[in-house]
Amino acid sequence: MTFLCATDLDRTLIYSRGALETHGDTLRSLVAVERREGKSASWMTERAAAAFAGLHEHAAVLPVTTRTPEQWHRVRLPGAPARYAVTANGGVLLVNGHVDHSWDAVVAAELAQCAPLAEIWAHMSQVCRPEWTVKLRNARGMFCYAVLHRKRVPPGFVAEASGWAAQRGWQLSLQGRKLYWVPRSLTKSVAVAEVARRLETEVVLAAGDSLLDADLLDYADRAIVARHGELFAAGWSAAHATVTAESGVRAGAEIVDWFAAQVT
Ligand SMILES: [Mg+2]
Repeated sequence: MTFLCATDLDRTLIYSRGALETHGDTLRSLVAVERREGKSASWMTERAAAAFAGLHEHAAVLPVTTRTPEQWHRVRLPGAPARYAVTANGGVLLVNGHVDHSWDAVVAAELAQCAPLAEIWAHMSQVCRPEWTVKLRNARGMFCYAVLHRKRVPPGFVAEASGWAAQRGWQLSLQGRKLYWVPRSLTKSVAVAEVARRLETEVVLAAGDSLLDADLLDYADRAIVARHGELFAAGWSAAHATVTAESGVRAGAEIVDWFAAQVT
């Protein structure tokens, strides 16, 4: 049996300082896997890092992230570099670190199914008030996000904005300080299916934590979801999916162990 281990990054496999703080995790026994402006920015446990490096011997490993390619390139995961990476929530497929432009037409067709980014951007710019918004970002003309002072965001704002976006074929996902606005048709699973096809893998294993991972976990043959984050909070479940016992950075270690147990 050949396996594809498709894993979300942030708050699934790797944890930023903010993510660590949320769960009361300390930097002890952690390995830095991201550098930003000369400083470490994301971590895994030492055990997870060692197990993750070993995973490549038994399976194809596929990082899958909503990060843009530029944000992904700051990450150095343990072990051999992955041949493929799915970035921009499925919008950009990287092969050996380079953008695969043969994927552009698929993405253009996906984006044509929902309201244009310009309409979403205009609305986001208006409703994300400067009193509690740090900055707004356009991700390669595919989707956008707002960085927020999370504690100052008015109650009910995300639910209301989600309703507005849903009518236009978009969905919201709140991950730490970032509120993502992403077309429902731009999915991680379609890009992962493409990689599974190219690599001719038989079984797709997937891990995630946020609403943007739901389609990937649904698509996978077997899945694991972190005991924290949007999916867990929403009570997401599936017959082929399990939930970690731990939360925070130790959930990340458990997820790597789960991948290893599936493929060996
Ligand atoms: Mg995540």
